[in-house]
Amino acid sequence: MATDVEITERPKPGQLVFKPARRGKPPQHLADLDLAGRKKMLQDAGYPAFRAAQLSKHYFERFETDPDKMTDLPAGQREELVAAAMPPLLTTVKNLKADQGMTVKSVHRLFDGAMVESVLMRYSKRVTMCISSQAGCGMNCPFCATGQAGLTRNLSAAEIVDQVVQGIRGLRDGVVGPAEEAPLRVSNIVFMGMGEALANYKATMGAVHRLIDPSPEGLGLSARGLTMSTVGLVPGMRKFTQEKLPITLALSLHAPDDELRDELIPVNNRWKVDEALDAAREYYDATGRRVSIEYALIRDMNDQGWRADLLGEKLNKRGAGWVHVNPIPLNPTPGSKWTASRPGVEQNFVERLRAHGIPTTVRDTRGSDIDGACGQLAADV
Ligand code: SF4
Repeated sequence: MATDVEITERPKPGQLVFKPARRGKPPQHLADLDLAGRKKMLQDAGYPAFRAAQLSKHYFERFETDPDKMTDLPAGQREELVAAAMPPLLTTVKNLKADQGMTVKSVHRLFDGAMVESVLMRYSKRVTMCISSQAGCGMNCPFCATGQAGLTRNLSAAEIVDQVVQGIRGLRDGVVGPAEEAPLRVSNIVFMGMGEALANYKATMGAVHRLIDPSPEGLGLSARGLTMSTVGLVPGMRKFTQEKLPITLALSLHAPDDELRDELIPVNNRWKVDEALDAAREYYDATGRRVSIEYALIRDMNDQGWRADLLGEKLNKRGAGWVHVNPIPLNPTPGSKWTASRPGVEQNFVERLRAHGIPTTVRDTRGSDIDGACGQLAADV
């Protein structure tokens, strides 16, 4: 399908991009601001400050955007208030279903034509959403479809939050599984969609607060249900540690040695394996939250037994009980030389890690048949 998306220049191998190609800002939305900021925004536009709480309830509690249904607002002002505080940010252009309709990948067009994706996965007792923090990604990991397409721009806090609000609406309206069956609330959010969230720090933290702050300030989700993923931006990890929130940190390591990681994860040329692991351990010390090490198993690349041993040793060197490892069978990108490890090799890798006493769980790759697993979100519509 043709789109009006600009083609972002593809990065050269190994090139890191921290400054997005595009700087245009989406319209300001109440989810960009805390409650005090929303009051000011409305006052500046000539409305009474108390409308901020009313509008916030519609957005964060009722997930409502239709002015006609906001009967607590004066009839003559409803449309203009909604236009001022809740401009539409995401237009969903496609919903792709998998796993008998219990996983849905949504492709959204932003105000400037940039595309992002989110994935909602419904399980019997929980609902997990994987959301994007940037349109594209500047980290350029060679096995990742998103990284190969480059960084288009950072998302605003509200563009990040609105992916979740749209997901909640989708659950309510029966877009993902039956509308009448529980669970209908999103319980887990992982920042593992497009982009490196810590490279868009301010908007990401704004979004985190909108997700966890109690209503009507935010959605009131439990911080324990959130997972922040990073490829190892050490200064960003340290800053995030200072937030002291009980959020899980997931470090995408993918190799325990610098020689290979320099190639697999170009950001390793700035911050090495040991620095990233030290920062991860500091995160555990500050928050008490066990860190997840993500390890995409790539055939004949990083799946050797000796690498499992080296990883086990490096983690144990930093203490016990602070970490667990999630090996992920790589989802092959069409036309790519990168492919998943053979099953026996994966099993051996897992057993070698467990022999070092490292809790290890092979991660569920739900949604892989719709390109919705980690590192596969490239908004190709
Ligand atoms: S794997 Fe993650 S950090 Fe690397 S390019 Fe892909 S989205 Fe970016």
